[in-house]
Amino acid sequence: MRKLLLRNVGDGLNLIINNKDHHDLTIDFGGDENIHCYGYFDDSFLLSHFHADHYNGILNCNHHRHWDLQNFYYPAMPAFTESKRFFMSLLTMNIRISNNHPIQNTIFDYVKRLNRRPLNFRAVSKGDIVVCGERKYEILWPPQELVEEDALIDIRNAIRDFEEARESDRQLSRIYQNISRRYAEVENINNAEIESPNDTDRLTEFDGELSEIVQKANKSLRKAANRLSIAFRQDDNILFLGDLESREINSVVVDLVNNHNIVYDILIAAHHGTHWHRSLNSINANICLASIGQTLKGNVKYEYKGISNKLVRTDEWGDIIITKRDRVR
Ligand SMILES: [Zn+2]
Ligand SMILES: [Zn+2]
Repeated sequence: MRKLLLRNVGDGLNLIINNKDHHDLTIDFGGDENIHCYGYFDDSFLLSHFHADHYNGILNCNHHRHWDLQNFYYPAMPAFTESKRFFMSLLTMNIRISNNHPIQNTIFDYVKRLNRRPLNFRAVSKGDIVVCGERKYEILWPPQELVEEDALIDIRNAIRDFEEARESDRQLSRIYQNISRRYAEVENINNAEIESPNDTDRLTEFDGELSEIVQKANKSLRKAANRLSIAFRQDDNILFLGDLESREINSVVVDLVNNHNIVYDILIAAHHGTHWHRSLNSINANICLASIGQTLKGNVKYEYKGISNKLVRTDEWGDIIITKRDRVR
């Protein structure tokens, strides 16, 4: 019997955790290999964060009414002073660089079309419990409110880089105007109506080249978005660290240690196995998994070997199947 499947998608992630009966929890669906819309997702989907290597598979699917999902979870934007501006900056940059995909809205739209039935979209953050096939998944990150000074500094820098880019890039500035209009009345961006992206579509025409200043802003925004990706645990079975940066790994691990939740059957290493914080030395896992492709494979943190009995990577192993008895196939 299968406990989970980590598919070899190259640079990206697609993890399917099998719970009772057909109640699966699928985490992310993106990568640069093997992401054709082969199959069928059941019960619940959790998108760890809005980065293309975690969702582009969804946008590649054009089968209608193919999936049978009941729930779609995604990371809530934590509360902090500039959260709305940060959200709008991210959304604007997403649209600018991804050839007319206003990411958030487009993903939700696609999922709605791909699914056989209406489904629930729910933004989750630390403390929330997601139940799937009688298993409880405790969300460990992002926090409801962001107070970590380092993260806030990073986010402010990203917003500043974005503002600079907006001044020099006409398309960016036009998209931002449109986005600001659309979200002007919205108080809580986590409850924002999911609209059709058509009006935004018309605005953008990606020319395939980005100035250095736009690339810089994109990079800072990306890093800041990693900081807000979902991490969760499922009892002492699975610990999933998303694409967290090292500071956030530390925050998550400190909580785990305080609650004595330090031993796991399976650990999914942070950011494709390339992000690490020394606090992880207090965590112990039987099997550590890394979903990694050609771009990042040189950056794997071998420290993960020190906290697990076995480190298994998709670039070496291919699709990784873990059986109920924790055997790797
Ligand atoms: Zn990633
Ligand atoms: Zn990421």
